Amino acid sequence: MKAVVIHGARDLRVDPFEDALPPGPGEAQVAVANGGICGSDLHYYLHGGFGAIRVQQPMALGHEVSGVVTALGAGVEGLRVGDKVAVNPSRPCGACAYCLRGQPNQCLDMRFNGSAMRMPHEQGLFRETLTVPVQLLERFDPGADLAHAAMTEPLAVCLHAVRQAGSLVGQTVFVAGCGPIGCLTVAAARLAGATRIVAADITDTPLAIARAMGADETINLATDSDAMEALKRDKGQVDVGFECSGAAPALRGLLDITRAGGRIVLVGMGGDAPLPLQLTVAKELTLKGTFRFHEEFATAARVISDGRIDLSPLLTGVYEMEEAVAAFDLAADKSRAMKVQIRFSGG
Ligand code: ZN
Repeated sequence: MKAVVIHGARDLRVDPFEDALPPGPGEAQVAVANGGICGSDLHYYLHGGFGAIRVQQPMALGHEVSGVVTALGAGVEGLRVGDKVAVNPSRPCGACAYCLRGQPNQCLDMRFNGSAMRMPHEQGLFRETLTVPVQLLERFDPGADLAHAAMTEPLAVCLHAVRQAGSLVGQTVFVAGCGPIGCLTVAAARLAGATRIVAADITDTPLAIARAMGADETINLATDSDAMEALKRDKGQVDVGFECSGAAPALRGLLDITRAGGRIVLVGMGGDAPLPLQLTVAKELTLKGTFRFHEEFATAARVISDGRIDLSPLLTGVYEMEEAVAAFDLAADKSRAMKVQIRFSGG
């Protein structure tokens, strides 16, 4: 079979790849259908890694995939050949101190598909066929869209982020940065009962998508500074801010517009940033990080499968596996792309 494999910066190939093994007890074989390109996949493609994490051996990319079950091992219940599924890329060890404390997303021995953090690297899911333990599969309704099912993982990230904020019922929420994660955070906040959702970015194209995903108001930070001034009134008009851009000025803005006693959840991976911490002190703000997900993967699958959230505005395009390089080039162009997917043989 074949897989989409990164060899180094700007060196992405569709390579022959070791066939998936026949499913053993408790396992299922899946023909991969759709695979979404994520920011971390793009980092491997554009830069060969991020920070100290570099690609040191060929590695299949991808951790956002859907598929169709093609074979079942002994003893599997609740799943049939032909079922549509999403594949959970996260495999915490279950035995380390964090797993035992109920924080499996912080696992000290995490195996996460398509990550060069470990040696040998943890191979990704952009392959034609996979064999995995059935606990990693979430089943979808027969009528579910496999492109939408492949967005289970990023939605799980955003449900986990929303959970960090506590109850959003009746709250005014501000989402800074409207890439796929920002737009899915808008949708997750809507689902969680937020009554006013303001989304901001520096270009108009993602803002239109944020509106389609449930934002009540949008602000182009490059052209509309008045809107931000209005949100600063009386120490801030926002109850909960979500920083989804990874850009320091966006976090700076959230410190200004979040009301006294409000919460700010950091979803984007920012680097070092000088910040006016006196605002955090004087306004008694809570700053909270959020990382990956755990049980939210199943929740995301249910929400998508039941059609409680429409993900179609997010999908920029779907490319065949042989066109993977073109798919990555489009995904890298933030002015044109939101979520770009690759279609494999199961689709
Ligand atoms: Zn662990």
